[in-house]
Amino acid sequence: MVIKNNINTLLAELQGTHCRLIAVSKTQPVSLIQEAYAAGQRIFGENKAQEMAAKQQELPADIEWHMIGHLQTNKVKYIAPFVALIHSVDSVKLLDEINKQGLRHNRKIKCLLQVYIAREETKFGLDEAEVLDLLNADLATTYPAVEIVGLMGMATFTQNQDQIREEFGQLKKLFDTLKQSTLPANVSMTELSMGMSADYKIALSCGSTLVRIGTAIFGARNYH
Ligand SMILES: *Cc1c(COP(=O)(O)O)cnc(C)c1O
Repeated sequence: MVIKNNINTLLAELQGTHCRLIAVSKTQPVSLIQEAYAAGQRIFGENKAQEMAAKQQELPADIEWHMIGHLQTNKVKYIAPFVALIHSVDSVKLLDEINKQGLRHNRKIKCLLQVYIAREETKFGLDEAEVLDLLNADLATTYPAVEIVGLMGMATFTQNQDQIREEFGQLKKLFDTLKQSTLPANVSMTELSMGMSADYKIALSCGSTLVRIGTAIFGARNYH
């Protein structure tokens, strides 16, 4: 009941926006995902490839699985047959491997470019120059099995709401600039993935189209 109520509260907040809810189910057991599924939730986010693949096997086929965490190239193969969207593309090397696996499974794999926006030390993400550089290449020829549909970013972990707003605003600005520019054939700017349990309200006001929410649905995670 708690999970269902949490989802309904969030959906009410998303109503009237163009934003969809991703239930971040990492570390959560299949039983709790089933509870969210029974409440109508169909998009789930995981951050570990093997954990996602194991859960996908056990759960209904109409679930949309989103990879939201850092993805190592040697793990792409576990999720390539079914993943709906990879939010965390942060290198050309990873793009290469996703393309290879997409070709192998005869499908186009949708991806977001993860952009580094936080003013703190984080290991992952491209900076704006790298994004522009990447989008300048002939991606449709180089990566025919990849479709880039937007950007993803994570704000600094801080209580400072102004700072979070500024970081999300910066990503939105890049998104809009790219959207208005000429993009390679297999690139579009339709999805802007930003916002987690602590900052999704700010993300929404900054134009997010995908919020990734774990704790506010399932409660605190239990890491073993
Ligand atoms: C875990 C995680 C989330 C969800 O975080 P909550 O604070 O539990 O909502 C969102 N995005 C990414 C990339 C994550 O790793």
